[in-house]
Amino acid sequence: MTTFTKIGYSAAFAAVLLAGCATNQQQFTYTAPILPEAASGFTAKPGWVTKKFAVAAANPLATDAGYQILKAGGSAVDAAVAVQMVLGLVEPQSSGIGGGAFLLHQDGKLNGKMEAFDGRETAPAAATESLFIGKDGKPMSFTEAQVGGRSVGVPGTVRMLEMAHKQHGKLPWAALFQPAIALAEGGFKVSPRLNTLLAAEKNLKNDPVAAAYFYDATGAAWPVGHVLKNPAYAAVLRQIAAKGSKALHEGDIAQSIVNKVRNHPTNAGQLSLQDLANYAPKKREPLCFDYKVDPETYQICGMPPPSSGAIAIGQILGILNNTVAPQLPLDSATAPTAAEFLSPDWLHLYLEASRLTFADRAQYVADPDFVAPPAGSWQEMLNPVYLEKRAKLIGEKSMKTATAGIPLPYDAMKVGVNFNQTLKYAPMPDQPEYGTSHISIIDAAGNALAMTTTIEAAFGSMQMVNPFSTANPTLSGGFLLNNELTDFSFAPTDAAGKPIANRVEPGKRPRSSMSPTLVIDKTTGQVIMSAGSPGGALIIHFTAKTLIGMLNWNMNAQEAINLPNFGSLNGPSILEAKRFPASVVEALKAKGHEIREIEMTSGLQAIERTTAPNSTSYNGFFGGADPRREGIVLGD
Ligand code: GLU
Repeated sequence: MTTFTKIGYSAAFAAVLLAGCATNQQQFTYTAPILPEAASGFTAKPGWVTKKFAVAAANPLATDAGYQILKAGGSAVDAAVAVQMVLGLVEPQSSGIGGGAFLLHQDGKLNGKMEAFDGRETAPAAATESLFIGKDGKPMSFTEAQVGGRSVGVPGTVRMLEMAHKQHGKLPWAALFQPAIALAEGGFKVSPRLNTLLAAEKNLKNDPVAAAYFYDATGAAWPVGHVLKNPAYAAVLRQIAAKGSKALHEGDIAQSIVNKVRNHPTNAGQLSLQDLANYAPKKREPLCFDYKVDPETYQICGMPPPSSGAIAIGQILGILNNTVAPQLPLDSATAPTAAEFLSPDWLHLYLEASRLTFADRAQYVADPDFVAPPAGSWQEMLNPVYLEKRAKLIGEKSMKTATAGIPLPYDAMKVGVNFNQTLKYAPMPDQPEYGTSHISIIDAAGNALAMTTTIEAAFGSMQMVNPFSTANPTLSGGFLLNNELTDFSFAPTDAAGKPIANRVEPGKRPRSSMSPTLVIDKTTGQVIMSAGSPGGALIIHFTAKTLIGMLNWNMNAQEAINLPNFGSLNGPSILEAKRFPASVVEALKAKGHEIREIEMTSGLQAIERTTAPNSTSYNGFFGGADPRREGIVLGD
């Protein structure tokens, strides 16, 4: 594990990594569908050193709310509640009380228990597998499905936070809403990123509540620095602060959510009061795997399904550990040079490992309450013997499209049976996934959390709820509803009628890519790193890159986050625009890769524990935040 006190990567390497930054200031209009939120420039970040506690979030006002709570003696979960409520105000495009979230938490006591809180949205009871099939019998376009009530899942973030707070909260629930209420009533300055996204957005204005809140009378996005007040959001938060999640899931606010979804003029959904009242967050076993970086073995933990994040990261890392050519730096003692890191050979291996991983994801991963894991356990997808076999499929040239593997016990069944029978589901076709935010916190008692929170696409379903608009028109603003149901497969079956595991079913949770990650030092049992990112399916690559940077290449959190982004979703090989030399691109093409250079707007946040020079005892924290977004880290 690297620390900021150790040597990071070489100066030459740093120069290459940062070379793209200066030219990357301009904003791009992107067209590729795999992208999540748009880019809003690249601002170099210093990385932050703290001693007692640290909080990292995607917006300075949100980070500050968490900092105030930690300073007041609050726990990591307390701080996460405060951060989330402010994010819903200042970064409304990405997450909020109308969405869902996953929270991974480890108790600060040595060898403390780790828990995974699932606040994923669910499909309404009335949803059917043809939810996203259009009148022509074909899957709808993404925007057709997204905008309106159809895509809205039952929100889970507030109930999940309430569950986590009941267990791990130190400060009173109501106190955690104060920073957001004060900012919503007093006003906050529109950030450059919010302004950029509002200006580029075409559909949000069609919702009258959102149009009145986010745009001026001429329809122009509020400018950067404009003081925006959201008294309706403050009034909703006051009720949740006083009565808990019931205030959102039952009564007048619930009714206004239902009205918004069901009364959409062109694309209504089926969410009911009962769906909202019945929503229950779930506690799941975290999905953990060992990761060897000689001489250390780390334990990496993340969310189990319905997220595909931890499984996918574990597969990529596991396959790579079976493939990496010896001359490439995969031990903690050797920092890579620029040429080594950017080596087409290494990128080829990573991209091929990605393909194999995304083929398995498409085949197997869905809500575990509806779909059984292959061979009886999700861990079979991470079985080292299985991953070694998968790694052997990687050749000199790109395989272009990988097919799913058969995790081991299935493989054993090949003898004497038609093992195709065991592939009960058809693979899910690649589909766009887009508005999410990541929070990492370690408090003074050592409680650590990683929480990734989302309303899916930027501005979610583009539906803003204001429960007070009729009774009290002076209470303007409100909160946005998610479009998380578009994370289900639009097509319920393949062409032959075989069902897809991640198809829509009533009460089901859509498969996610969110990857809140905690890394454990196996000798001390302590969390030494908390990390995660938004970015749709690319979250998996953004997080894997950061883990490789920190664990394998001795980088600190900021250096690892700064690394160029890359990955494949089992289609083209995707590279972050303007961050890779033409020679690398050409060499990959020569290996058969179809290259797409696009904005890859990660929003990584990471906190690592540091050790004093020549010592193994922890002496504080170092945090990093993504230069591609507005996040910062704070702590004492
Ligand atoms: N809805 C996506 C998921 O849960 C995340 C979208 C994003 O990060 O932009 O995997």
